[in-house]
Amino acid sequence: MIGALELHGQTLAELEALVAEWGYPSFRAKQLFAWLHRGAAFEAMHTLPAGLRERLQAQATDRPAEVLETRRSALDGTIKLLYRLRDNHVVEGVLMRYRHGVTLCLSTQVGCAMGCAFCASTLDGKARDLTAAEMIGQVLCANTVLESGEAVHNVVLMGSGEPLENYGHTVNFLRLLREPDGLNIGLRHVSLSTCGLVPQMTRLAEEGLPVTLSVSLHAPNDTIRQTIMPVARAYPMNDLIDACRYYVSKTGRRVVFEYALMRGINEKPEHARELAGWLRGLQCHVNLIPLNIVEGRDFYAAGPQEIRAFQAQLEQLHISVTQRREMGADIQGACGQLRRAFISGKTKEG
Ligand code: SAH
Repeated sequence: MIGALELHGQTLAELEALVAEWGYPSFRAKQLFAWLHRGAAFEAMHTLPAGLRERLQAQATDRPAEVLETRRSALDGTIKLLYRLRDNHVVEGVLMRYRHGVTLCLSTQVGCAMGCAFCASTLDGKARDLTAAEMIGQVLCANTVLESGEAVHNVVLMGSGEPLENYGHTVNFLRLLREPDGLNIGLRHVSLSTCGLVPQMTRLAEEGLPVTLSVSLHAPNDTIRQTIMPVARAYPMNDLIDACRYYVSKTGRRVVFEYALMRGINEKPEHARELAGWLRGLQCHVNLIPLNIVEGRDFYAAGPQEIRAFQAQLEQLHISVTQRREMGADIQGACGQLRRAFISGKTKEG
């Protein structure tokens, strides 16, 4: 039933219009909304009249995404998830356990069109955008694989895809995510990561959605950035940093810069100094990421000494910086790896 209504992506007002069209009062929409965002199947929605449940079953889906496979890390409790969508596309996610609660890393597209040279998600290009319902579906699936009493508490849009290239669905998803009658995840618990689509960053700043903006910078200047990220040819660093300043001014939230240290490319102390020059006076934080090696790509991680030296250099220049902890190293936790392994038939169900 591929063409079925995707109700998980609809607002309460849209559900109200739908049930009104079907001859039911608006409180039925409120009940339906709550059931959907609890992950209930239509037949289990026992407070709804049987006639409405039947109509829903015939015309809508109660499973925008399904868990296809899970892998649990023996090292740190991280859970890698593969989801199957209704058209049989597969996307992945990661559940990480931190002291401040469970964080879900969520995908916004099947594959990615951005073409970053070091990233596995973009190797086969983009198949399609995910809908808001499919993003909600990922959260609901994730909740089903957690222990009882646990639930997704933080969401990071850092799985496959470029969220700001799928702007409408992503913003709809964010609005639904914080609904008190739904998943009730406050947007202060959400990070959206972008490779740097400047016009959409500016638009997002004006949406009144207080998410943390993460920007995948990975380079201290345009020359280096253009060699590893095609998007840098469209939007130079000057415009990118200006958009970040604007985001901070509109939302009052600091911007986080992601910087994966790659041997021989962007890891030297002079690169750290150049980076600090851009960030001076900007309310921001730098996240240093150890590069995950992607098969078939000629990029290597910087060594621990280089990473420490890079961090020390930034600290000396008063830039707030931390190293991101690696999680799920034993379960192909990194971006795009599990999906690729699945597609090429290397996982047990593949
Ligand atoms: N398209 C968005 C979000 C998805 S990627 C973006 O570009 O930000 C999530 C993060 O993983 C980004 O910071 C991305 O640059 C980073 N990443 C991609 N491939 C990586 C690799 N091989 N090693 C480390 N980080 C990687």
